[in-house]
Amino acid sequence: MEIIDEIIALKKNGLKNDEIADKLNIPVGTVKSKIFRYKNKITNKINIVNTNEVSLDKHCRTCGKEIKSIAGKKEKQFCSDYCRVKYWRMQKNDKKRV
Ligand SMILES: [Zn+2]
Repeated sequence: MEIIDEIIALKKNGLKNDEIADKLNIPVGTVKSKIFRYKNKITNKINIVNTNEVSLDKHCRTCGKEIKSIAGKKEKQFCSDYCRVKYWRMQKNDKKRV
């Protein structure tokens, strides 16, 4: 068991940073930096997973609905003609506003 696992376990039990430091006999600064790095690691992992999901699954650019891609066919960007037309209309409107 790594020290960070013990810190997180104690944290989940509702202990404060200085109490954890006391219990594990390490400086409070170490507890804080370990937690900080742990949170960063988790956030990065989530970001990576999300990026993969976005690139793997195809979603309609208008409504976000998942698109079932048909093997051998060109990648679709919209779930239906309705959404395709709606998307390009939105694009046009954006340009007009700018
Ligand atoms: Zn759609």
